Amino acid sequence: MNIEQLYTIYRQHPSVQTDTRQLKSGDIFFALRGPNFNGNQYADAALASGASFAVVDDPAFFTQPEKMMLVDDALAALQALARHHRRQFYIPFIAITGTNGKTTTKEMLRTALGAAYRTYATEGNLNNHIGVPLTLLRIPMDAEMAVIEMGANHRHEIAAYCKVAEPTHGIITNIGKAHLEGFGSEEGVRLAKGELYDYLRENGGTVFVCKDYPYLVEMSKGIGTVITYGHDPADFAGAPFPGTALLELESVGAGHVRTQLVGAYNFPNVMAAIAAGLHFKVPAEKLRAALEAYAPSNNRSQVVKKGTNTFVMDAYNANPSSMKAAVENFAGLDAKQKVLLLGAMKELGPDSEKEHQALADLLQLSHWKAVVLVGKEFSKTQHPYIWFETADEARTWLEQQQFQDTHILVKGSRSVGMEKVVN
Ligand code: ATP
Ligand code: MG
Repeated sequence: MNIEQLYTIYRQHPSVQTDTRQLKSGDIFFALRGPNFNGNQYADAALASGASFAVVDDPAFFTQPEKMMLVDDALAALQALARHHRRQFYIPFIAITGTNGKTTTKEMLRTALGAAYRTYATEGNLNNHIGVPLTLLRIPMDAEMAVIEMGANHRHEIAAYCKVAEPTHGIITNIGKAHLEGFGSEEGVRLAKGELYDYLRENGGTVFVCKDYPYLVEMSKGIGTVITYGHDPADFAGAPFPGTALLELESVGAGHVRTQLVGAYNFPNVMAAIAAGLHFKVPAEKLRAALEAYAPSNNRSQVVKKGTNTFVMDAYNANPSSMKAAVENFAGLDAKQKVLLLGAMKELGPDSEKEHQALADLLQLSHWKAVVLVGKEFSKTQHPYIWFETADEARTWLEQQQFQDTHILVKGSRSVGMEKVVN
């Protein structure tokens, strides 16, 4: 493959697509393969519907040589093109990984840095082997900051993304229990996320480390520049106010920040953005105003008022560590009456039964008006609570209760569809 030639084509048509259903006129189409599809089959159709060029890796579909490039591996070509584009920039590239809070932290950094710099950040959750290169290829030439979310379900994925994105800075939000099926254990998660630190250690990078997590401090040893934040006054410090539904914090540097985010567990996410903003010399007043203006979407920690009730909607995803953080936060909330509607946690492999039991046990430590558990993963769990198989049944139950002046936490894995209980 001739990367210079491909990059010349990209600069004429700087928009790349791998999915023909989302193709726009002028896009360069990359024919990727998946377990159930072969993108090469769609290359001709992509050109017919307006694609400017197609990159294929199956000679049988190399039908229009003047508008196609035949490569050994279209995914590798996409990643190589992304790295080539990334190398045109001499700006900070901040990579974010971790078990929970990547997108929130990424959006907070977009907001914080965007207050003073032209900042490009990952759109939505495009954080995998296709999403990372697509993200890099969307960075406009005039960008002054790039923020790249990296997700992983297995070892060596983050290392591979780092080779493409070549980050200069990094943040690991935290390390907890998620995707245990792919990682094997929490230690496996630590090694996998740690690949970001490993890359930055080997390449003279800078990391922003939340000191409230001693394991991150330990893992970051030996990295050229380590900027810490957290509760310790020696750092970019802050302290959350307990008991409020929306996180408010007092920080050294950005002052008093009233966020629109639910929960003390978002404290490190916001502090990461404050630390990065101050490090890159965003004026404190602009930084504070930007962080206060940011409102989450997509059921990621949203507060929704319905009549006299307040729903804390966190139905975007769930794993043992984010579930524990959300429940503990909700337990500490100052409210008249509290109800929990909790959906199952997926992808836990052999630990599933144990983790659902641990959650049920954790719930017993606080007093709730009512608790509803949803999903078959809870069917073997010992607990005194109400159980339904589906979110629809939970909605019917909720409608019958006629709660007033109640705070209701709604959380579960994406596929349980817990957001349905309010709609
Ligand atoms: P994904 O793996 O889907 O990309 P993510 O890491 O990007 O997830 P977010 O989308 O930012 O995470 O947040 C998802 C949920 O994780 C939130 O709704 C919240 O429940 C929980 N969460 C966010 N930040 C933290 C944190 N610092 N600690 C624990 N849980 C958190
Ligand atoms: Mg995300």
